[in-house]
Amino acid sequence: MSKHFQDTIGKISKIANRIIKEEPDYAPLKHLNILFVWKEGKPSTDEDSRPIVACATVLPKKIRDLFGFDVSVEVNEDIWTRLTSDWKYRVCWHELRHFSVEMDEETHQPIRDKDGRILVHTKSHNIVVKTFKEEIEKFGVEVEEMDLFRYLKSVLKRVKKGELKKYAAPGILKPEENVEEENQSVEEED
Ligand SMILES: [Zn+2]
Repeated sequence: MSKHFQDTIGKISKIANRIIKEEPDYAPLKHLNILFVWKEGKPSTDEDSRPIVACATVLPKKIRDLFGFDVSVEVNEDIWTRLTSDWKYRVCWHELRHFSVEMDEETHQPIRDKDGRILVHTKSHNIVVKTFKEEIEKFGVEVEEMDLFRYLKSVLKRVKKGELKKYAAPGILKPEENVEEENQSVEEED
């Protein structure tokens, strides 16, 4: 069971608005009316058994017209309350990163559709590696993945030099245990 309700106190929006105000990259988002939503109860998990902390959605046109909100940021309340303020900031930063507002380069105003709605879409993650080490060992590396591996190599160098931080993620953001058992059943199906 999971229930949703609006963050009327502004716990999420306070942080999100600060990011939009302070980070130039995020400035176009100031034109959006963002609905901040709490999701109560046990977080759902993604296919890798990681708890889903939050999600960013462009709302359906009808909802946008009726209620005036363009997009929503939904956060699992239980996880949120157990995060440090640094991680709360990071969760907001990540979710807002998914939104992209189409801006008119000359007027610096958002472009709108014929009905006046701001053109906004969600961006996918630009680093995704979903495979098995063994698969790389057996089949090698895709041409497009070479750029990613080069980038990751440069990241590692910067971490070693101390230019990038090395940190441990909070336990609640890690995949659930008992993953082993689930994996076994996947293998049996094969
Ligand atoms: Zn994301």
